[in-house]
Amino acid sequence: MTVPQIARVALDVPLRRLFDYRVADGESLSMADIGYRVRVPFGQQHKIGILVELPEATDIPIAQLKAIDGILRDVPTLPPDWFRLTGFCASYYHAPLGQVMLSTLPASLRALAPRRHRQRRPEHPLAGAQQAPVLTLEQEASLAAIAVGAEGFRAYLLHGVTGSGKTEVYLRLIERALAAGRQSLLLVPEINLTPQLEARLAARFPAAGLVSLHSELGEAARSRNWRAALNGEARIVVGTRLAVFTPLPEIGLIVVDEEHDASFKQQDGIRYSARDLAVFRARDRGIPIVLGSATPSLESWANASGSDTSGRYRLLTLRGRAVDGARLPLVRCIDTRVDKPRDGLSSTLLLAIEQRLARAEQSLVFLNRRGYAPVLACAACGWSSSCQRCAAHLVLHLADRRLRCHHCGYETRVPKTCPTCGNQDLGAFGRGTQRIEVALAERFPQARILRVDRDSASSRKQWEAVVETIQNGAADILVGTQMLAKGHDFPKLTLVGAVAPDAALFAADWRAPERLFAQLMQVAGRAGRAERPGEVLIQTQYPDHPIYQALVRHDYPAFAAAQLGERQQAGFPPYAYQAMLRAEAPRMADALSFLAAARACSLHDDSHSVTFYDPVPMRLSRRASLERGQLLVESSSRRALQRFLGVWVTQVEAIRAPSRLRWHLEVDPLEF
Ligand code: ADP
Ligand code: ZN
Ligand code: ZN
Repeated sequence: MTVPQIARVALDVPLRRLFDYRVADGESLSMADIGYRVRVPFGQQHKIGILVELPEATDIPIAQLKAIDGILRDVPTLPPDWFRLTGFCASYYHAPLGQVMLSTLPASLRALAPRRHRQRRPEHPLAGAQQAPVLTLEQEASLAAIAVGAEGFRAYLLHGVTGSGKTEVYLRLIERALAAGRQSLLLVPEINLTPQLEARLAARFPAAGLVSLHSELGEAARSRNWRAALNGEARIVVGTRLAVFTPLPEIGLIVVDEEHDASFKQQDGIRYSARDLAVFRARDRGIPIVLGSATPSLESWANASGSDTSGRYRLLTLRGRAVDGARLPLVRCIDTRVDKPRDGLSSTLLLAIEQRLARAEQSLVFLNRRGYAPVLACAACGWSSSCQRCAAHLVLHLADRRLRCHHCGYETRVPKTCPTCGNQDLGAFGRGTQRIEVALAERFPQARILRVDRDSASSRKQWEAVVETIQNGAADILVGTQMLAKGHDFPKLTLVGAVAPDAALFAADWRAPERLFAQLMQVAGRAGRAERPGEVLIQTQYPDHPIYQALVRHDYPAFAAAQLGERQQAGFPPYAYQAMLRAEAPRMADALSFLAAARACSLHDDSHSVTFYDPVPMRLSRRASLERGQLLVESSSRRALQRFLGVWVTQVEAIRAPSRLRWHLEVDPLEF
């Protein structure tokens, strides 16, 4: 009698283990079947899993093993490097392997009874084959430094302002990868950025089977594109963070554009950094990776600038703008202690806008806060609009007369009188985009004003309409949040005014200055093109602040050096490695005592290489009726931290917690 074969399967369940099954009688699997999906019984139901191993033996008596229902060969096997990537993700972020693996597949490949989709070829706007420009010397130099097609891992940090020609460098690298018979993966932070990039790629490489992968694709398209990547039809894949997991058997190049962008970090579920996984993937496959940005993350900058001992990334710099004669915008601070803003707008800024109106050029007023005002309050009794479910104010949205919580989505109509004392004179405090819009409309009644924030452009369709309006010159003044800051060419835009950036200077989050600098550089990048140099005006009470001074000089390296110096002094990342345990529960006491218990169980361990902070309430201490606490763990050694977390996470799982308590562990947290 032959011994039944054992199949080890990854399943999407929150358990840190794989599951063993028996291969059904009469079937026989070989190593070549590893990486196929399988259908298996699980409890009372069935599940789709991935065959990861055909082990010789199992701890469970073979007679007790259930048989797999079937093996699904409709899609090619997932390649070995995909297993290494998902395996690394699971171990580095301390997430169950099966959950990592299955969550990266298109939904229809995880479903027991997938809906049939019509097969359609991907479509791309016919842009006609696009002429490649003659490269600048700096572009040439960068390209000469990067080896594509040859074997060997190397990470490059391509630093250059918006318009410096980074994308053109990516295109040339992709061209080389194509010539070498290799696939390219291009990661971008935002769905909104994919259409223009796709159009540019499709125009340059009409025969490369370009596909995109992002969350706004319908399931049919997503699954079709994913398969095209896996079977090698697609030679170029453009996508947002989840696309880092796309199986690409012949991958030869990875590009991460806007590598500093926080959108590369998944903020729920498995909290991975797609940029960091991309670097792992390139190293694992022995291929080049290019990280591009005008304002690199300080982590990447430290890796490239050699300010620490590593110098692991090679730094490549594009100094000017690529197009002939295009100059960097002139950045100036408006001292609001002298030129006091009225309704949020200083006279210098108003004058500059007026000049643009007279010349039929566009202005952008930048404020990273949507709504009309962050709080509605009663001066008579001290009432203020706060969310019942969150430790936060309800934001006044006058456009549709609602009060809204930006954290939990709760909303209610604006009261006519004070809910506690009946006072009819409620006041709006602070300023959001809607209020600036109103002020501008009063000041410039003849101007066409367009507000762009998540309230006015939430869907991709709306966003595309907005971009078209701006590009057609059908708006004179734009009022917008950082949404507007990212990667679009607005040729008529010559003025950017940042009206209230100061708050970020003194924020409790020590990453706030980095984000502020990146944001302002990015909006500044919107201003001006070849024949019309741009101007950027920053309204501030602190015109001498080093951040603003670095912006005025377009001096990211100076800014980064100063920040890294401070980080090193304070022992913050990238000079330390961190993980955050967060817990939420209906009562803060429960969340904090859970965290205290987690901290206590670490004491039994060899954890002296790891430092613990105290369990504390999070800055937004209540959200959607749950109290939230956090516990920060830190080490000067990534390896020591990882070794510790591996043990600790299972101890934390064993803590008896109140049933309504939820917790998660985040490695390399970005937000505090
Ligand atoms: P980035 O990605 O750094 O913002 P792009 O590659 O998009 O820069 O280049 C900015 C603009 O300059 C684009 O319109 C692009 O077509 C153009 N461009 C890029 N490189 C060159 C070049 N060598 N000669 C002329 N124009 C160029
Ligand atoms: Zn009142
Ligand atoms: Zn709320």
